[in-house]
Amino acid sequence: MDKHGKQKREYKRQIWYTIAYFVFWLALLSLLNVWLLGRPQPAPFSQFLEDVDAGKVTSATFGERNVLWVVAGEDENAVQTFEAQRIPEMDDSEILTLLQEKGVEFSGIQPNPLLSTLFNWLVPLGLLALFWAWSVNRLPGASQALSFGRSRAKIWDESSEQVTFDDVAGVDEAVAELREVVEFLTQPERYAKIGAHIPKGVLLVGPPGTGKTLLAKATAGEAGAPFFSISGADFVEMFVGVGAARVRDLFKQAREKAPCIIFIDEIDAIGRSRTGARSPVSNEEREQTLNQLLVEMDGFDSSVGVIIMAATNRPDVLDKALLRPGRFDRQVVVDKPDLQGREAILRVHTRNVKLADDVDLHVVAARTPGFAGAELANLVNEAALLAVRNGREVVTMQDLDEAIDRVMMGLERKSRALNRKEREIVAHHEMGHAFMGVLLPHADPVHKISIVPRGTAALGVTVQAPLEDRYLLTEAELRDRMTVLLGGRAAEEVVYGQVSTGPADDLQRATELARRMVTQFGMNEKLGPVALEEMQQGYLDNEGFVQRRYGEKTAAEIDAEVQRLLNSIYDRALTLIRRHEDVLKQAAQRLLEEEVMEGDELIRILDEAGVEHPVTDI
Ligand code: ADP
Ligand code: MG
Ligand code: ZN
Repeated sequence: MDKHGKQKREYKRQIWYTIAYFVFWLALLSLLNVWLLGRPQPAPFSQFLEDVDAGKVTSATFGERNVLWVVAGEDENAVQTFEAQRIPEMDDSEILTLLQEKGVEFSGIQPNPLLSTLFNWLVPLGLLALFWAWSVNRLPGASQALSFGRSRAKIWDESSEQVTFDDVAGVDEAVAELREVVEFLTQPERYAKIGAHIPKGVLLVGPPGTGKTLLAKATAGEAGAPFFSISGADFVEMFVGVGAARVRDLFKQAREKAPCIIFIDEIDAIGRSRTGARSPVSNEEREQTLNQLLVEMDGFDSSVGVIIMAATNRPDVLDKALLRPGRFDRQVVVDKPDLQGREAILRVHTRNVKLADDVDLHVVAARTPGFAGAELANLVNEAALLAVRNGREVVTMQDLDEAIDRVMMGLERKSRALNRKEREIVAHHEMGHAFMGVLLPHADPVHKISIVPRGTAALGVTVQAPLEDRYLLTEAELRDRMTVLLGGRAAEEVVYGQVSTGPADDLQRATELARRMVTQFGMNEKLGPVALEEMQQGYLDNEGFVQRRYGEKTAAEIDAEVQRLLNSIYDRALTLIRRHEDVLKQAAQRLLEEEVMEGDELIRILDEAGVEHPVTDI
């Protein structure tokens, strides 16, 4: 932000310089005119004739529309120049004879456009360029202004404070993947020997503030490699073609410094899908930049030791071309940290903070669900500021508590930091899904249950991991699948006697499944084995559409059957939840404490409570 403001001021200053220069030059030019030639005095044409007659004229110059004549005075310096408009269609021959008689030196001038242009424009322009170059060089830090096409990438100075993986916490999986990238850079021979291709591009994907930029810096720090960092927004300039030139220059510089890392932060600014964008503004510039990026990425061999890292929190809007093999084919997910992760991050950020003995970072972590690394860093700093304000020398638990509130208030508008009641509802809801997953014989096994708010969409998630890839599903499996989907809502109804808006997405998916069972899979007794609807595949990756083959009467029947099916499924879910309500509440409580629960642990809880699973009687 700051940097951009400064550059804008710099541009402004140069515009003023230019204007001042022009004014100066014009003034100088007209002064020169007057000084060198003497300003001709306007006079009537008749005076010209009189002067000639009187023999006062020493020379005359005929222009296309005017005539200039010089009258000699008493001494040599007192010459006077006059100018008169010529009379159109006048016959000059008489005047010329007269001039000849009087011995006046006369000539005509052709307007010479080339020469006058040269003199009036090119010379000043040349001088202007010189002047500009001179003034630009004099201004500190303004030297890039002349080099629009040069990339504005900052090189991460190796001598400045190094970031390493020790400074990053709570994203262990991402770190593990990036350690490999470090090896690509430090020991490329090992990969070359075996014939393995080193990936060119690594895309870091995750919500804001989770440490993507930090991870990229740490990767460079660990590898001891130069780090070119540029933000996607820097590419998109107001001049068409500048972005593309920047990309070219960036890659050129990087190749000279290899092995190194190019880091494009917030790549979605240039990498937005070319077709999907509905922006009314021309995308020409962004497209050119993106194309140039693709060309450059394809144009080098990863064995030169340049690895391109990029970060985005909008992977969904990225152009598919960027994700193709040979480009950003590696994706590293950097997600919001769970309880343990938050504690680890707090530890990193309190390394240099004096903490009172009563501070328990585990408790702080437990109170900050949904916080990303950036917010935790901010929290620690707020607490330290509060301690100073209160005249303390160490940060106490009270400071941290107050800081949590402060950061939380800022967050509420920004992202989803759930309050206690909401978290409880989400925990029971997810347990509802998970119970169905464990209890039903044909459901996919439950892998993990989490109420760490992720991204923007899901408040919680129950991950089911199918044991194998499935291409065919039986009716029983479809029914169980729908029951799992409705299990969340059923749990809310049983525990709270009412449902929240949370399950809207579950409902939609269950309804879609039910509808397809009736209209596409022929799994309804009343309507029979008829394909009433057909999914039409869209062209390329456009959405497909549904072709209907029935009349109004059947449409009403379909709606009724879908409704009946869903109601019976929901009853199934309700029955199961009611049967195990107590165990479910107990498991939800555990989930609230731990935020994340493995499927195995849930099974252990069920086993301890003596619950039979899978059930056989439903
Ligand atoms: P992003 O690029 O994902 O939006 P940043 O890397 O800019 O997030 O994070 C901003 C700051 O938040 C970092 O400089 C660091 O102080 C802190 N931070 C974020 N994530 C972590 C993490 N996983 N471990 C330690 N600090 C973190
Ligand atoms: Mg960032
Ligand atoms: Zn749900």
